[in-house]
Amino acid sequence: MSLQRLQDPGVAQLWCADQQARGLRVGLVPTMGALHEGHVSLVKRAAAETDRVCVSLFVNPLQFGEAQDFERYPRDFTADCDLLAEAGAHMAFTGSLDQFFPDRPGQVSEWEPSDFEDPGPYAEGLEGAFRPGHFEGVATIVRRLFEVCLPERAYFGAKDYQQTLVVRDLARRMGYPEVVVCPTLREASGLARSSRNELLNPEERSAGLFLSRALYAARGLWMLGERDPMAFEALMGSVLGQSPLEVEYATVRDPKAWTPGRPIPPLRQAVALIAARAGSVRLIDNMELDAGEGPAGAASRSLPGESDR
Ligand code: AMP
Repeated sequence: MSLQRLQDPGVAQLWCADQQARGLRVGLVPTMGALHEGHVSLVKRAAAETDRVCVSLFVNPLQFGEAQDFERYPRDFTADCDLLAEAGAHMAFTGSLDQFFPDRPGQVSEWEPSDFEDPGPYAEGLEGAFRPGHFEGVATIVRRLFEVCLPERAYFGAKDYQQTLVVRDLARRMGYPEVVVCPTLREASGLARSSRNELLNPEERSAGLFLSRALYAARGLWMLGERDPMAFEALMGSVLGQSPLEVEYATVRDPKAWTPGRPIPPLRQAVALIAARAGSVRLIDNMELDAGEGPAGAASRSLPGESDR
């Protein structure tokens, strides 16, 4: 089946409903486009587990605090669709803010707080603190994407660790879909693949390598038996301190008992999370410390009180 390329969420909704009427399971991969191998890995997983893979390509203005970051975010619908066709997706859709939210103002600046989805407790701290309003914007568009596609499963990357917690909580409140978290794809250098990497100059790209270096160092410390959050902060701080990065946070959290601030020692399980700026490009990365296979494990876990699906 060739890739359907749709420019209107209303048409995408009809397309999904038609598939479901024929008994086919829809898998959704929400993205902001500028696709890379990390996105492709989500699409391939969805293609292996569902019958029809839909990919949204929408640079969501609701989740950007900085206008400049939104404006310069890379966009190429045609190239993205070509990649998706190759990866085995069945439908790709985009739309305007107006089309996604016909009942709300066309300008984000005119939205009322009540127009946004409450992103819940996992939005507190770290990304939620450094990017006020970000998770409100994420939860609002993800709810709408779920409503448009009514997917059985939705696929997200562990790269955006806190987002996976917010989205799982949203899906639990909505009653669907099953949220599948896929491992972070990295370049051979260790740098997590990201659409924003395209914006890095060579010096900034070298600086970006310090994020994964600091995370692997943290994992080494965990394996030596350290369980005090402050020791991980000190170690990651010293690794990152050797770089020109401007660090926003480099810390650990207990993924099962999310706290906005630093958890109380001793840690039982932990994910290390970093956000830092290389020049004007903001990079984030994370790593599960208490499992050998990479960051997917931690994010794949259920929310507290929820069994694994
Ligand atoms: P974005 O287009 O950046 O909003 O990302 C869309 C989805 O792809 C999100 O669920 C991301 O977590 C996921 N993603 C982004 N980068 C990677 C990566 N390097 N490996 C795996 N998934 C990723």
